[in-house]
Amino acid sequence: MAVNLEQYTQLVQTLKQKKVTLVAVSKTKPVEDIQALYDLGQRDFGENYVQELTEKQHVLPADIRWHFIGHLQSNKVKYIAPFVHLIHGVDSFKLLQEINKQAEKNKRSINCLLQIHIAQEETKFGMNEEELSNALQQLKTFELNHVEVIGLMGMATFSDDTNKVRNEFAYLKNLFNKYAEANKQHPFSTLSMGMSGDYNIAIEEGSNMVRIGSLLFGARNYSQ
Ligand SMILES: *Cc1c(COP(=O)(O)O)cnc(C)c1O
Repeated sequence: MAVNLEQYTQLVQTLKQKKVTLVAVSKTKPVEDIQALYDLGQRDFGENYVQELTEKQHVLPADIRWHFIGHLQSNKVKYIAPFVHLIHGVDSFKLLQEINKQAEKNKRSINCLLQIHIAQEETKFGMNEEELSNALQQLKTFELNHVEVIGLMGMATFSDDTNKVRNEFAYLKNLFNKYAEANKQHPFSTLSMGMSGDYNIAIEEGSNMVRIGSLLFGARNYSQ
């Protein structure tokens, strides 16, 4: 097993002091690895692919809080709507409407984060400030009673340039503060930013939820 239990224990202590929630990102990793962290008390796990998530959810303990952190296609919302705890990557109002519809079918409300594009890379999904502002405006206009937008999520540029990374996180924190009160029922509570390589910087810049995979589970091998 490649899970680094010592690393996990250390990380949990550090994050607890800083009141930061750890989402253990288990994509491509076997259920045994997830169970190993579960046995140490971890309950929040993140996955990127709908099919992989539903398969794992089916066989693992029911009290796991599953975070969907990948790019979610509208036609796949229905598969995770019965159980998902938090959807991090919502990047359009249209997707929010679909999540609302599927949540209603399951007689529940689903927590969501709006994903903001903060990195330089073209490939990273997310809204710009104008789209964020419009989405929050639309949330006030349309009654989506089965979704709760509780904050923002973002991914920094994958770079050794720590100044660049820090500036991107600072920009997201700034948007978070600026729009926190513009949210419909209650201010934003959750700012999901920081991964294995940059979570320290993210926390310094105001993150309260980090998504960490390879540091805990080892490097991913996509060729299998
Ligand atoms: C894979 C992934 C992570 C975890 O990345 P690591 O570098 O392995 O910690 C975090 N967030 C998102 C959105 C991811 O896709």
